[in-house]
Amino acid sequence: MRDGWVELDESDKRRTAQGTYGKHDIAALMTKQNGICFYCDRSIRRRYHVDHFIPLSRGGTHWPKNLRLACQPCNAAKRDLMPWEFTPQVKRYRIPNAINKELR
Ligand SMILES: [Zn+2]
Repeated sequence: MRDGWVELDESDKRRTAQGTYGKHDIAALMTKQNGICFYCDRSIRRRYHVDHFIPLSRGGTHWPKNLRLACQPCNAAKRDLMPWEFTPQVKRYRIPNAINKELR
């Protein structure tokens, strides 16, 4: 496993990244996301990970606008990927039909 150095690297970035967030920011996100992982449809009400939408290692910040709540599998799979480089293992099923039709 390369977890060792990844964690070290991330903690370095964590120290230098700008921004802060608090419990109320997380609570607001939970409400906004309806208790569902931002990337897939798993419920995250009982357990969630705070994901940096733009990874800290790619210049992201700790400001709430860069945070998303994600399930453990999505957060672990996304790691340092940019949002557009990341495909959730479980795709969203709640895309409105109208949009689905446009995509086809
Ligand atoms: Zn997920």
